[in-house]
Amino acid sequence: MPELPEVETVARELRAVLPGKKIRSLELYWEKTFEHQDAPPLPGQRFGTIGRQGKYLLLNLDKSVLVIHLRMTGQLLARRSGQQARHSHDRVRFLLDDGLELIFRDSRKFGRIRHVLSAEPLLRKLGTDAMDQKLTAALFGSMLQKSAMNIKAFLLSQKYIAGLGNIYVDEALFLSALHPLTPAREVSGAEPLFNNIRLVLQRSIDNMGSTISDYRNTKGNEGLNQRYFNVYGRQGLPCKKCGGPIEKIRVAGRGTHICPRCQQRGKT
Ligand SMILES: [Zn+2]
Repeated sequence: MPELPEVETVARELRAVLPGKKIRSLELYWEKTFEHQDAPPLPGQRFGTIGRQGKYLLLNLDKSVLVIHLRMTGQLLARRSGQQARHSHDRVRFLLDDGLELIFRDSRKFGRIRHVLSAEPLLRKLGTDAMDQKLTAALFGSMLQKSAMNIKAFLLSQKYIAGLGNIYVDEALFLSALHPLTPAREVSGAEPLFNNIRLVLQRSIDNMGSTISDYRNTKGNEGLNQRYFNVYGRQGLPCKKCGGPIEKIRVAGRGTHICPRCQQRGKT
């Protein structure tokens, strides 16, 4: 499932092609993918800045905003129109001027494009983006202190910090030698964990994201970061630190990858 680095990769690529381009028309192949709320018509509007908060993409237009969440398998493809036949998983197609098209492809159909007047009501409910410069280790530490959740559930909840999902939480907890069931308020010294979160996210952004199955960038290419995982998807394989086997357990309702020797409970 795309997390912050994958959505950031898509945002960066869209910033290079979309601003200034006008929407000529829109074709819906799967009605539920696109929700038109209280907003002026799309055709004729031009793209402005491309934003991102957590896992949400924000495509600003002259008079409204497209808020996109890729969910499990969503892909946004930007390319010259008419060069490729329609794919059976294409859900929405935006035809732009200059002969470009933007395709939303999504095999599982959980992804959503919301066309709204303002993204504010949604963003207000969302936590600070994990890469936002306003988020400091001190601020992160004070959020942990107030939480009654375990550290894995805290980091997955988008209410405090937005953008992390199962992959990067597991990777950051391993680097921090923290067991995922450790209560958030018992994490001693928030700074190493904070730094490791930034490290795993930045490394993945530098590698154009991680592709486990469906994630692709806007050109249809896979990311490279999956080559560098320490624990995610490595159950049964030797830990890169201690050589013991990586295990897969269940925490916060999610398959969770840990090294039981390097990440002991109660040891923070
Ligand atoms: Zn280990």
